[in-house]
Amino acid sequence: MEIKGLKSWGGQWKRPLIMAGPCSAETREQLRETAVAIHNLGINIIRAGVWKPRTRPNNFEGVGVNALKWIRDIKDEIDVKFAVEVANPNHVEESLYHGVDILWIGARSTVNPFSVQELANTLRGVDIPVFIKNPINPDLSLWIGAIERFSQAGIKKIGAIHRGFSSIQKTRFRNTPQWSIPLELKKNFTEIPLICDPSHIAGDREMILEISQKASDLDYDGLMIETHRDPNNAWSDAKQQVSPARLGEILESVTFRNPTSKNKEFLSHLEELREEIDQLDHELYEVIATRMQIVDQIGYYKRDNNVTVFQKNRWKEISENRGNWAKQLGLDTDFMDEIFKRIHENSIRRQREIMNKSFQQTKDASGGN
Ligand code: PEP
Ligand code: MN
Repeated sequence: MEIKGLKSWGGQWKRPLIMAGPCSAETREQLRETAVAIHNLGINIIRAGVWKPRTRPNNFEGVGVNALKWIRDIKDEIDVKFAVEVANPNHVEESLYHGVDILWIGARSTVNPFSVQELANTLRGVDIPVFIKNPINPDLSLWIGAIERFSQAGIKKIGAIHRGFSSIQKTRFRNTPQWSIPLELKKNFTEIPLICDPSHIAGDREMILEISQKASDLDYDGLMIETHRDPNNAWSDAKQQVSPARLGEILESVTFRNPTSKNKEFLSHLEELREEIDQLDHELYEVIATRMQIVDQIGYYKRDNNVTVFQKNRWKEISENRGNWAKQLGLDTDFMDEIFKRIHENSIRRQREIMNKSFQQTKDASGGN
């Protein structure tokens, strides 16, 4: 199954692909004013939640079809495309009828293969870009499954949106990013346009710039950022939305990187640096191998003198001076501490094996049990 890259989507699809707009379309004026301000930043894809999936009932659940009429009118006025979340066949039909340009599948729909299949069936034969958000739970196969269902229904322009994952552990994120999952997705579909939604990952507008930069560093194709003319008074997700002015600042501050460069000088310098890294890594491994040989010698020595493998005072001394070395060398002390703990664990395991082996040999030799 082949998922096509942005380049083959047509001339107007370029990196970085930016979608911005309110979490929810609230009123005609709110949507219009927000869209115009975003358009003035040079962004021409506006997102808007029309039907809102809410955790509990009786919260604002979106204005529905009326918002689609506003969208149609705004598109008559300014040159923008609109992206809308669809969660059932009726949403799809209404969106297509009102001329919505891009659809996205929300995280709560991607978790459910029944919903995804229904949506895919409704879209059979329709040429519209579909962006699929990651499922709420950190399950890569559900995400892949949804992509496959749309692809099998004949959708040619399929993108993925990383909006983070729910987790039982409390973290500083509303939805923990777990970056390795979208990167693994990219291994399965190397060309798929991958967009980051820092708004839902963060849950807090203060973190949007940092997450956007990280996504760009990881070679994402674009960003979806919730933007509202008056974020503090938004009817949903108020804390994580930014004003159009702030969106402009964020996009100015993010450095969008290229996956690679055609510049020969850059490439040959990169090659040299990579060789240096390979050399250093090899040395690092050799040093660890030598260290383990000495660890083994100490193991035999301890065994012959009948002393315990683990010695508290020695460990205390080791951790203290390794910590100081890290500081002196400008290394992150927590990071070095973690690496060193693993090396020490491995050393202890080797010495325990040496002790147990000799114990086993003694038992075998004496024929006892
Ligand atoms: C949204 O984009 O407003 C939304 C509801 O997102 P998600 O499906 O990622 O929760
Ligand atoms: Mn939202």
